[in-house]
Parts: sequence; C-alpha cells; structure tokens
Amino acid sequence: MTSIEHNLQQVRERIAAAAARCGRAPEEITLLAVSKTKPVSAVEEAIAAGQRAFGENYVQEGVEKVTTLAAHPELQWHFIGPLQSNKSRQVAEHFDWCHTVDRQRIAQRLNDQRPTHLPPLNVLIQVNISDENSKSGIMLEALPTLAQEISALPQLRLRGLMAIPAPEQDYDRQLAVCLQMAAAFRALQQNYPDVDTLSLGMSDDMEAAIAAGSTMVRIGTAVFGARDYARTSQQ
Ligand SMILES: *Cc1c(COP(=O)(O)O)cnc(C)c1O
Repeated sequence: MTSIEHNLQQVRERIAAAAARCGRAPEEITLLAVSKTKPVSAVEEAIAAGQRAFGENYVQEGVEKVTTLAAHPELQWHFIGPLQSNKSRQVAEHFDWCHTVDRQRIAQRLNDQRPTHLPPLNVLIQVNISDENSKSGIMLEALPTLAQEISALPQLRLRGLMAIPAPEQDYDRQLAVCLQMAAAFRALQQNYPDVDTLSLGMSDDMEAAIAAGSTMVRIGTAVFGARDYARTSQQ
C-alpha cells in the first residue's frame, strides 16, 4: 500500500467515525482531496486508491493537472483558491466546480466564459464567517442578494456555500462557527432546491464541521502529506 492510499483510508475512517458520532451516514460527506503543490504522480496515486474529487488553489497549476489527466473523465475538479478576474476564464473552461465566488462581477465573468458545450459550472458562495483578517468571502448579510444574482445566470449552478473559518484549536469554538454556516446553508436550501453542498472542514476541524452538517470536507495535508511551498512559484 502506498502512503497516499494509506492516508486516504485513514481520512475516510475519520469521516466515517465523525459521521457515526452524530448519526449521519458517511456517504453524505464527500472527501475533496486538496492536491495543491503536489505533483500529478501524487494525484495518480490517489486515483488508483479510488479518489475522484480533487481541489486546486492555483489556476495555472490546476489547469495543468486537469489537462494532463484528461484521460480520466470520471474525475471532478474543484477550484478552491482566491479567484482573480483575469484568471476566471481558465476556471470556467477547465473546472467542474468553483468554491470561491464572492462577488457578482466574478460570477458574471464565469457565466459568460463557461463554454456552452459544458454543463453549467457548479458554484459555491464563499462566506467570511469568522476571519477578520481575510479579504475573501462575503458577509452573511450579503448572501441573499448574491445568491439571487447567481441563480439568474444560466451557465452557473448554485450548489451551496463554502467557508474557511479562522484557525481555532478548541472544538467547541470550531463547532460554534460551523453551526452558523450550517444555519445559513439550511436557509439557502429553502429558496434554492439545487443547493446541496456545504464545503466546510479541513484537516484540523473536520470533526466539528461534520457534526455541524458539512457535506464536503477539503483535506490536503492528511492525504498528501505536508506541502513544500518552495517547489511552486505561483502566488
Ligand atoms: C489548502 C486548503 C485546504 C486543505 O488544507 P489542509 O490543512 O492541508 O487539509 C482546504 N481548503 C482550502 C481552501 C485550502 O486552501
């Protein structure tokens, strides 16, 4: 067994255990393997171990992997990094999902640039739930308006919400923030029947995220090992 295969098995067990503790079925939670800074060979190992959904943060690096692995139509590619306007076309043309939509202008660009032969791009609205230092994500008060704007765009499909809570070690405080996101998610579902995805939870807070109702955890380090940022020149 390779170490990535072993890690994936352990992460799947962590997800199943966290789900069991709160009476949820493990199939309700998708594992998104975050492969940023990792080589194609690492993604191939994960594919061999049954992983299908991958998350990338940097547009150019992500597009390289998507195109290199085009022989695997079963893969789902998620863009989860900050998105600049001048890179939106690459995301619209190569990815299946974008988790970081936080303004109308970028939603409109993704819509206009999404090739019509592809299905609509699945989008999540990024909410700034607890991180005062982050410039990414909208405040909860702005959510209804942006959701309405996105739902009017035919080449986008609003699937839910995403958040990157401020780092926090205490479980109860992690849970409190995750529960705020879960409440916003349920409220959104009342108005938009396609909404089924709450992208919440990373290596250090996935248990609290799952307890709150996350449907997608984004796990990098626990699957692929520590990242070496010196190897990438981007961003
Ligand atoms: C890097 C990253 C992750 C994965 O983080 P780990 O701590 O390595 O699990 C998840 N979500 C986003 C948005 C990221 O940028």
